[in-house]
Amino acid sequence: MSIQANYEQIKKRISHACERSGRSQSDINVIAVTKYVSIETAQEAVDAGVKHLGENRLEGFHEKHQAIGETVNWHFIGTLQSRKVKNIINDVDYIHSLDRLSLAKEINKRSDRVVPCFVQVNTSGEESKHGLEPDELDSFIEQVKQYENIKVVGLMTMAPLTDNEDFIRSCFKQLRVLRDQISDLKFDHAPCTYLSMGMSNDFEIAIEEGATHIRVGSSLVGNERK
Ligand SMILES: *Cc1c(COP(=O)(O)O)cnc(C)c1O
Repeated sequence: MSIQANYEQIKKRISHACERSGRSQSDINVIAVTKYVSIETAQEAVDAGVKHLGENRLEGFHEKHQAIGETVNWHFIGTLQSRKVKNIINDVDYIHSLDRLSLAKEINKRSDRVVPCFVQVNTSGEESKHGLEPDELDSFIEQVKQYENIKVVGLMTMAPLTDNEDFIRSCFKQLRVLRDQISDLKFDHAPCTYLSMGMSNDFEIAIEEGATHIRVGSSLVGNERK
C-alpha cells in the first residue's frame, strides 16, 4: 500500500477511536516515525499530508531534517545523550525524551530559545524502558523550573511489549493521571497539557486514554529502507 493509503487508513482508525471516546480528531497529532526508512519515504509521508516527523537517532534526524527542512515539525523521540544535545538543539521543535536533570541542564545551556519538552515516564515498570519513575516526577518538575529554556509541554511514555491490552491501557491511564496532576499545579514552566503515547500497535488505546501525540512508524511508513 502507498503511504497515502496507509495515512488514510490511520486517520480513519483515529476518527473511530475519537468517536468512541468523545474526542475531537483535531486534537490528535500524528507523528510519522521515520527511523527505519529513507529520506524519500519520509518525504512521501510529508507529501501525503503528515505535519510531524519523529526520529530517535541523530543520524536519521540530521539527514531528514536537512533534506526536508522546516515545512514540518521535528520531534526527537529517542534517548538523547547530553553531549549530543548541541548537535540537534537548533533543529528540533520538540524533545520527547527528557528524563534527567543533567539533560535539562544541557538543553538549557545549549539553546537560546525555550524548547518544548515532553518528560518521559516509565509507566510499565520494565527495567529496559527509559524514563522517570512515576514517583520521581513531581520533584523533577519542580527542579526543572530553574532551567528557563525548558518548557514541559507534556508527558511521554512507551507501552510495554505485551499483548495484554489491559496492561497497556493501564500504563496510558497512569500517564494521563500524572499529566492531570501536574497541569493542575498551573506552573508557567510546565503547562503539561500534552500526552505523547501510542505507536502502531496501540495508538487507538492511547487515543481512548487521552493521547494528543501518537508516534506511528511501521504502520504508516513501513519499517524497511527502500
Ligand atoms: C520506533 C518508535 C516508535 C514507532 O514505532 P512503531 O511501532 O513502528 O509505530 C514510536 N516511539 C518511539 C520512541 C520509537 O522509538
